[in-house]
Amino acid sequence: MRAEFPDFRLGSVLATSFTGTLSERHGDAVERIPVPHRLVDWLAVYGLDVDSCTTAQLDLARELRESIHAAATAAALQDALPASAVRVINARSAQGRAVAILTPEGERRWRLGSDSGSDGGVAFCVEDALGVIAADAISVITGERDGRLALCASPTCRAAFFDTSRSRTRRWCDMNTCGNREKKARFQANRRKGPGPAE
Ligand SMILES: [Zn+2]
Repeated sequence: MRAEFPDFRLGSVLATSFTGTLSERHGDAVERIPVPHRLVDWLAVYGLDVDSCTTAQLDLARELRESIHAAATAAALQDALPASAVRVINARSAQGRAVAILTPEGERRWRLGSDSGSDGGVAFCVEDALGVIAADAISVITGERDGRLALCASPTCRAAFFDTSRSRTRRWCDMNTCGNREKKARFQANRRKGPGPAE
């Protein structure tokens, strides 16, 4: 029987969705890629299909994830980027061999540089996928994309997220989780106060 693993929280921005695979960093942390095959599952959701993943590759992935989290948090706070995080992001970016391919349907696919294009091409490995994620993080952190890095308002979360709302006033990493919980907490706090004097 397959063990149950925590669900993924999927966002539209690759790099910050990746950092979201560890959530509630300031509360009861939830590791959403606890075993190598869950990283394989997560990558597949974003079109980065890999054949296999070792525990060493999972460690590499988590190191990159925490580096992106540290750098994105610093960028959101307009602090200096931590040198060690920058080093890891650059190392993973340099190691990846993925090539962006434009399909006739106008979509982007990722392919290995050495793949001649036939179906039996060389498989993507975890390092190639991490290279794509690292490059995405660089584009977000440098501010070359339309949006703003911000930190989730939930005190147990504080995830870095990429706000692409028109007003740039999004407060939570995810409306369905952190946003909803905050709303519920406020509602219950109001109820506990009971019916106060008529206003
Ligand atoms: Zn959050």
